[in-house]
Amino acid sequence: MTDAPPITVLADDTAYAEAVQLAVDSAAAYYADGTSTLDDDAYDRLVRGIQAYEEAHPEAVLPLSPTGKVAGGAVVGDVPHTVPMLSLDNVFGAEQLADWAASLERRLGRPVTEWSVEPKLDGLAISARYRHGRLAQLVTRGDGSAGEDVSHAIGTIVGLPDRLADAVTVELRGEVMMTASQFEDACAKRQAHDGTTFANPRSAAAGTLRAQDRPYVCELTFFGYGVLPPPGDDSELAVRLRELPHSEIMGWVAAQGVQTTAATPVAGIVAETLERVQERVGEIAAVRAELPFGIDGIVIKCDLAADQAEAGFSSRAPRWAVAYKLPATEKITKLIDVEWNTGRTGIIAPRAVLEPVELDGSIVTYATLHNVADITRRGLMLGDSVTVYKAGDVIPRVEAPVVHLRTGDERPIAIPQVCPSCGDAIDSSQERWRCVRGRACRAIASITYAVGRDQLDIEGLAENRVQQLLDAGLIVDFADLFFLTREQLLDLERMGETSTDNLLAAIEQAKTRSLSRVFCALGVRGTGRSMSRRIARHFATMDNIRTADSEAIQQVEGIGPEKAPVVVAELIELAPLIDKLVKAGVNMIEPGATPPEEGAPAAVAELPLASMSVVVTGAMTGPLAELSRNEVNELIERAGGKASSSVSAKTSLLVAGEKAGSKRAKAETLGIRVLSPEEFAVEISAFL
Ligand SMILES: [Zn+2]
Repeated sequence: MTDAPPITVLADDTAYAEAVQLAVDSAAAYYADGTSTLDDDAYDRLVRGIQAYEEAHPEAVLPLSPTGKVAGGAVVGDVPHTVPMLSLDNVFGAEQLADWAASLERRLGRPVTEWSVEPKLDGLAISARYRHGRLAQLVTRGDGSAGEDVSHAIGTIVGLPDRLADAVTVELRGEVMMTASQFEDACAKRQAHDGTTFANPRSAAAGTLRAQDRPYVCELTFFGYGVLPPPGDDSELAVRLRELPHSEIMGWVAAQGVQTTAATPVAGIVAETLERVQERVGEIAAVRAELPFGIDGIVIKCDLAADQAEAGFSSRAPRWAVAYKLPATEKITKLIDVEWNTGRTGIIAPRAVLEPVELDGSIVTYATLHNVADITRRGLMLGDSVTVYKAGDVIPRVEAPVVHLRTGDERPIAIPQVCPSCGDAIDSSQERWRCVRGRACRAIASITYAVGRDQLDIEGLAENRVQQLLDAGLIVDFADLFFLTREQLLDLERMGETSTDNLLAAIEQAKTRSLSRVFCALGVRGTGRSMSRRIARHFATMDNIRTADSEAIQQVEGIGPEKAPVVVAELIELAPLIDKLVKAGVNMIEPGATPPEEGAPAAVAELPLASMSVVVTGAMTGPLAELSRNEVNELIERAGGKASSSVSAKTSLLVAGEKAGSKRAKAETLGIRVLSPEEFAVEISAFL
């Protein structure tokens, strides 16, 4: 969170005039159908640049200027709002929030009684007018004083009921948006209809809300954030709604059957101090990446109606509320190139090379493109302006091209005809393309992975040594390592007696690794370390794993109907390698595990971490200090738990070492039990 908002610097009157025109066009397009040529961040930067220029050159201000106007002056719609729908002023960072709060309290001449802190939803503000409890009219924000009637959308918006619990006449205000799954669904429908997709959830929601005669219907979601009694109404309810604190009004809204954010991890809270406000801002920011809907900031306001009334309004915004902006998670940038790489298992994956762009606090240069079908589906071209999304730990991804920004200079993306690694043919029968040589194509990568610390842990076998063995024709896969002789190794360059004996001893030692590590070493597609541990614990022996069919594999937690057949097919492909490992005498049993048929469920329940999902973060200390993260996770699985890498509502326990950071903050927000490494070591001491 940076404290100084970035601005576009304007050199002279010409640059200023161009900037004003660009901002006006962009706002008009945005409020028309959500297809702005600028992303939010670029638009804000531009308007701040215009503002700075106008402050320095007051004589040059153009009447068209978007500064100080609601919706940047874009006028849409002819239904007047009973009470103007104002936008909020923004703050960037803790310091600006403190400044804003201080100036508000100076105005009041006393501290603010209580603060309300809520997420700022990344959708479109809307007014929903209910008459006698029935939803009668939907109006967009428009320019703030009048909006457009979009009542045709009634019945397609989740969370906005046709009827309220009580037969009351009120106006609800809230945000219309698309959740991640609604967005996916909308893109699929549009793709099937005209071969294009939406750029992002918000423009999809904007377009959908205004669309009247589309042959397909896309679902939207509503979250209410306020309610207004009709002006002049002095009924008991109207008076009460004008006097209740904001937090209690939201309770009333929810009781009417309207969706609010109360049931989400970012539910609104009431804070007594600015410190608590700031803390809540951090908590909301920490869980942002995992929310099923977009937020672009946090709304902080006076909770009490009396404080709000005393603070009043400026010409364009309430003085008693502010939007704390979070860094952008989506921006428009250029797709410069697409690189193709063959991975360890032979999968050929495209990667987007982007014009560097700052997203959620880091610079993004590469983004995932999944596969060829994905590129075709999105109709991407080199030189396209593309929307790129990244939040938290999520791998950056290209969402869609911004088609209306095309200049005609875009070129098609070259799709490889042969494997980019070895030049052999490509098997394109599956959606994910693969080199026909499979794992053999990148033997060096799969062998290096297999002997790594978290798998077979063979010390002294660095990548250059593996390459040497491959070049000498002594090995073709990692099972061949177990058949190497002392003579063969001594023949190699740079291999003395000591290093040969050490390597042979390390290889011998590797035969005794647990099944979970041996299985992980195979590098089965779709299974990493933790999944390998779960599979090994579930089946106990390699024989059991190999005889399991797709249905039996799905009994393992985290393996669904899509992944199971891949695992089965992979095991068939890997059969010669596994046979070779068996022949070499490599251990194929998971210590302490009982196979599913004979397993007594009671025995599992007695384990200290039975059916618990455990996340480990930060630096381990005490009895766990010497263990690698993988070894700690193995310990958790032995004690009956499930090791996981990210904190979610399903997490039962967080082991937080020094410098635990955002995972700890998130666990505390979700009310998850947190233990220090020392405390945790005591709980599982029998397994250490
Ligand atoms: Zn290849």
